[in-house]
Amino acid sequence: EQPRIATPSETSAILKRHGFRFKKSLGQNFLTNPQILTRIVAAGDVGPDDDVIEIGPGIGALTQYLAEAAHQVLALEIDPRLIPVLADTLAGYPNTTVVEADVLKADLPTLIADHFDGHHQLKVVANLPYYITTPILMHLMQTGVAFERLVVMMQKEVAARLVAQPNSKDYGSLSIAIQQTMDVEIAFEVNRNAFVPAPNVDSAIIKLSRRQTPRAEVTDQAAFDRLVRGSFVSRRKTLWNNLVNLYGKDQKPLIQAALDASEIPASSRAEQLSISDFATLTTNLSHQGL
Ligand code: SAM
Repeated sequence: EQPRIATPSETSAILKRHGFRFKKSLGQNFLTNPQILTRIVAAGDVGPDDDVIEIGPGIGALTQYLAEAAHQVLALEIDPRLIPVLADTLAGYPNTTVVEADVLKADLPTLIADHFDGHHQLKVVANLPYYITTPILMHLMQTGVAFERLVVMMQKEVAARLVAQPNSKDYGSLSIAIQQTMDVEIAFEVNRNAFVPAPNVDSAIIKLSRRQTPRAEVTDQAAFDRLVRGSFVSRRKTLWNNLVNLYGKDQKPLIQAALDASEIPASSRAEQLSISDFATLTTNLSHQGL
C-alpha cells in the first residue's frame, strides 16, 4: 500500500516539495484526515463496478482512496499549478486520469465517453470548492448524465437546504431541484479542523441517490423550474403575489383558476408547497395558457 497523501505530515511534505501556496479564491481547503476519507468512500459505496468523477482533487487526498476502490477515476481540477503535483502524487494509479478543467464549463457526457470504458455505474465523489457548491450541483443535475450516486462535501448551511422539507426556512428551489430526482441524506458532519487551511465554516457530507422514479411527474421541466424559482423570489410574500409578479397583473383570473384547480389557497407561502403541489400547479397553469 502506498503512503497516505492525506496525513498532515505527508500533505505538508508534498506542499513543500512543490512550493505550493493555497489560493483562497479557488476554495482550496485540503483534507488531512485519512479516517474521514475512508468514511466518504464508504458513503459512496464505491467499488470495482463504479466509474467515479471527482471535482477538485487538490493534491489527491481523496483521489487516492477512490483510485484504490473504483474501476476508474476521472478528476477535474481547475488550478494548473496542481496538475504537476497530481502527476507526482497519483503516479502509482494507472486507473486515474486528471484533466485540467473548470467543472462548470466541462462537457461531462463527452469527458465520460472519452475517458471511461462505458460499462460501469457513474458516481460523483468530491470535496467541493464551497464558493460554487450550488452552481456545481445544478450543473451536475442538468448535464444529462444519470449519476447513480453523488457523495459531496459542502458547507453545513447548504447541506441543510438540500435535505430541507416543506414548512422550514431552508426549504426552497434548491431543495426541490435536487429532491425531484434524488433521495438526499446527510451522511455525517465534518469539523473545520479536518482541513488545511481550516475553512471558516463547518461541513457535511451529503449523499444523493438516484430515485427509480421522480418524486413528481413533471410534464414541462422548464415551466416547472420557472414556477418554482418565481414562487420563492420573495419568501415573505404570499404565493399569490409572487405568481402575479411572475406572470403579470393581466393574468390574475387565469392564475386564480389554476390555483383553484390545484386546490392551493392563494394565501399560501411557497415554502408550504410540496414538490407534487408545484408539479400539479405547473400543469394547471399550462391548461390556462400560462
Ligand atoms: N479534493 C481535495 C481534498 O479533499 O483535499 C481538495 C478539495 S478543495 C475543497 C477544492 C478543490 O477544487 C481545489 O483543489 C480547487 O483548486 C478546485 N476547484 C476550485 N474551483 C474549481 C472548478 N471550477 N473546477 C474544478 N476544480 C475546482
